[in-house]
Amino acid sequence: MGRAFVYVILGGGVAAGYAALEFTRRGVSDGELCIISEEPVAPYERPALSKGFLLPEAPARLPSFHTCVGANDEKLTPKWYKDHGIELVLGTRVKSVDVRRKTLLSSTGETISYKFLIIATGARALKLEEFGVEGSDAENVCYLRDLADANRLATVIQSSSNGNAVVIGGGYIGMECAASLVINKINVTMVFPEAHCMARLFTPKIASLYEDYYRAKGVKFIKGTVLTSFEFDSNKKVTAVNLKDGSHLPADLVVVGIGIRPNTSLFEGQLTIEKGGIKVNSRMQSSDSSVYAIGDVATFPVKLFGEMRRLEHVDSARKSARHAVSAIMDPIKTGDFDYLPFFYSKVFAFSWQFYGDPTGDVVHFGEYEDGKSFGAYWVKKGHLVGSFLEGGTKEEYETISKATQLKPAVTIDLEELEREGLGFAHTV
Ligand code: FAD
Ligand code: NDP
Repeated sequence: MGRAFVYVILGGGVAAGYAALEFTRRGVSDGELCIISEEPVAPYERPALSKGFLLPEAPARLPSFHTCVGANDEKLTPKWYKDHGIELVLGTRVKSVDVRRKTLLSSTGETISYKFLIIATGARALKLEEFGVEGSDAENVCYLRDLADANRLATVIQSSSNGNAVVIGGGYIGMECAASLVINKINVTMVFPEAHCMARLFTPKIASLYEDYYRAKGVKFIKGTVLTSFEFDSNKKVTAVNLKDGSHLPADLVVVGIGIRPNTSLFEGQLTIEKGGIKVNSRMQSSDSSVYAIGDVATFPVKLFGEMRRLEHVDSARKSARHAVSAIMDPIKTGDFDYLPFFYSKVFAFSWQFYGDPTGDVVHFGEYEDGKSFGAYWVKKGHLVGSFLEGGTKEEYETISKATQLKPAVTIDLEELEREGLGFAHTV
């Protein structure tokens, strides 16, 4: 025997939390909605885990960062779900899904049936073993995807003060964790295969701004190479890492951030998969009309670029969640999801935002000094397609966002665009 719900959200991360709030705003009745999640806590703002959570003084701890505080909205504590008649099934993994029968089977053996299913399973961190390196299970090798990972990392940080950390990967996790480690007085060496950090988004010039600052804070960069093996002590704790270029780095702590894979395996062979994610239409509806997908796991049409994309960022998780709920509960009034890709990060006193697509010719503007902004535009086929800004004000970020959303023609030459800088976005 099992339970039956009208709406089931599979996964209890960022997208699930924002979907729950939207359901209540649109008038879901008691007992109609169930969220089932492998994590033991109610949905929370995952970005906090690499930032406030790792601070040495007054670190962020739950319940302070449950969704939806990241969008300055209500904080949904477990009591909130109870008060709103939402069944929150925590610490429970879904083992299989039968899309044809509209049922889920949980690890506890319960069958849950739905009328509408929203897949919000997010992604898992890639493991070093997938690149042929053994040792991920050592107690001082840390990944960072969920609260359990963050608790472990915080504990290892505490016991590594003034020690050495090796950070593997120069993406978001690598850059944000390296900054947090420095703040915790740990010596950091970053290792990644590319020529500069954040290679898929940053230009060499943008990357050098951050890398120079990190160096001034004592961070060392070893680029163009990868980890080949760990060395262990008798307790199976890592003591050093060996790199392909022959370097040998002593390590009290290793942080690994080498990308993610969306959690689609429950649906392979049942739903259409594209670009590694569950393919959905502009209503976030999958190839089965009763099943929707949101957040990191969804590949959806980005209208502005006429392309299917899977985005791995929190703003997309929040907005795709709201859109899917709107499409389910108010199908007539819900139009196409018209999403402008938005990424951001905060490290040390830096704060940047990026809107659009980092393709085409790039023009940098401004010179970074404390208190002054620095930015870049990407121009493709004569149109503005991407904007980056470090150190902007709220209004300036809104300005570049609005300008990029309009994808305006750039009729001036690139030198003039560079001279106009932010002024260009103001004229759009
Ligand atoms: P998730 O939040 O990952 O939630 C997925 C949920 O599904 C989890 O609770 C998981 O346990 C559950 N689940 C999966 N499979 C099953 C199953 N079979 N049964 C039951 N439950 C299951 N983005 C930004 O834009 N800015 C940032 O500053 C930023 N910082 C980040 C910092 C960190 C440390 C991390 C890890 C990510 C960060 N991100 C950031 C990315 C952002 O957090 C994600 O894009 C967002 O969490 C995606 O939301 P989601 O709901 O799709 O997936
Ligand atoms: P990213 O994809 O951002 O970066 C992974 C990095 O690791 C890339 O530089 C990648 O290189 C490199 N890499 C890949 N394989 C290896 C290897 N074998 N050895 C060394 N380096 C390698 O993923 P992260 O792990 O940093 O982040 C995980 C997820 O968390 C992402 O979805 C990200 O969006 C999210 N996140 C977002 C934040 C934000 O938006 N501010 C903050 C923190 C996390 P290559 O590019 O060549 O593959």
